Amino acid sequence: MRYSVTDPKRNTANRQGIGMTSQRTRERLIEVLTGLGVQDPRVLEVMRSTPRHLFLDEALAHRAYEDKSLPIGHNQTLSRPYTVARMSELLLASCAAQKVLEVGTGSGYQTCILAQLVPKLLTMERIEPLLERAKHRLQRLAIHNVVYKHGDGYEGWPAREPFDGIMVTAAPSQIPKALQWQLAEGGCMIIPVGEDEQHLLKITRSGNHFSKQKIEAANFVPLVNGLI
Ligand code: SAH
Repeated sequence: MRYSVTDPKRNTANRQGIGMTSQRTRERLIEVLTGLGVQDPRVLEVMRSTPRHLFLDEALAHRAYEDKSLPIGHNQTLSRPYTVARMSELLLASCAAQKVLEVGTGSGYQTCILAQLVPKLLTMERIEPLLERAKHRLQRLAIHNVVYKHGDGYEGWPAREPFDGIMVTAAPSQIPKALQWQLAEGGCMIIPVGEDEQHLLKITRSGNHFSKQKIEAANFVPLVNGLI
């Protein structure tokens, strides 16, 4: 039997997915992630225990533990598990991630993973219905260290800066300047950049200098201006 977020039989203590039939498929996904080089045990553990199927429509839930990006409506996608794991691992390894900003809440799946890895998470999304749905899901999963904003990631969240880490889950053609200036000293931003060809970049702040490191090829939906 598969539970949905709104199923009253599911209680909030069920973040581990206890009693769910998909535990074995989830283990297989963890094997795929380690095979692809994901190493951080903290990341692998939260990926193992987080019910990704609750972030998808019922009709797609059976595909939740494939290492694939999947549609979440409004022409957006839930990121591929490998990407979620890799970006989380990079962020944790690259800065003292106490207070983190995520741009592009989408389904809330990456939000849910990150929220279990850092003390304080702020997340912003330009499409309000997606943000509301994600918020509802995370509250049902008893994730309470997240603050939500319907806003444009190109502008970041000036009222709440600085951030030790920033993770962007949609791709701009260039690094948004406002965002990088919201990094704390020594802070880092993990962001896919590019149009036809995208790369995942790691930007690290040192004073007024921003060093840029290319990590690997990426494939994200575009970061778009303006709110819906
Ligand atoms: N991390 C999400 C991935 C969602 S896809 C998940 O795991 O489900 C990227 C998201 O970025 C989309 O929801 C899209 O609406 C959002 N987005 C795109 N441009 C944005 C912007 N300028 N500001 C905030 N969110 C944006």
